[in-house]
Amino acid sequence: MSENPCPSSAFQAIAIDGPAASGKSTVSRELARKLGFIYVNSGEMYRAVTWAVLKANIDTSDADAVWSFVQALTIDCALTQNAAGERISTVRINGEDPGEELRSPEVNANVSPVASVPAVRELLVARQRDYSQIADIIMEGRDIGSVVFPDTPFKFFVTASEQVREARRRAEGHSDPIAARDKQDSTRKASPLVVADDAVMVDTSTMPIVEVVQLIESQLMEKGLKKRCGCD
Ligand code: C5P
Repeated sequence: MSENPCPSSAFQAIAIDGPAASGKSTVSRELARKLGFIYVNSGEMYRAVTWAVLKANIDTSDADAVWSFVQALTIDCALTQNAAGERISTVRINGEDPGEELRSPEVNANVSPVASVPAVRELLVARQRDYSQIADIIMEGRDIGSVVFPDTPFKFFVTASEQVREARRRAEGHSDPIAARDKQDSTRKASPLVVADDAVMVDTSTMPIVEVVQLIESQLMEKGLKKRCGCD
């Protein structure tokens, strides 16, 4: 993993949680660019593991079978710079990059049961926390403010009406059972999707992305977040 440009400062973690298609990825990426932070998509880690489980023909509803397979995988979480110059997280499983398959209809349909296995979560939460040791990060997910970084003062819960979220997925041309995923993600025993007590709620149903980013950025400044060198 590469180093932070300001090694003398303590690293900061921004948590962006919310349901599927709430706009949190777009907002997180744009904020990361504006603030000079690394963008980490924790959902991709659950997706990558699910991709491997499916490739091995393991029944995703069999939690024991899932865990005994997952614990033997080599999961490499790293950082890279993409073509747009953004510094983002990457995940490889047994040396392979799942690429576009991370968002396949099969992965969409099976990621929630895999993410509900407590041992899988424990493993991936440890990897997620590792990022905060090496860089300033903005991490999106479902339990980032509640479980992964409960002590960060920078927590947001980004949401939108189910109708708007369904329409966003349709516009992307993806087959994604978002209502079913949300239900499973919110009702599972291990780290369900919840609004952390101290999170700021942001409803993106009718707000343009640029305004959502401005709103969160101004809240971050009020809360004392430090932007990174040369990023203002
Ligand atoms: O964010 P995304 O929709 O890509 O996440 C895919 C799935 O990964 C979610 O539906 C959820 O089951 C799981 N997930 C999770 N905890 C996170 C991030 C994602 O359980 N922090």
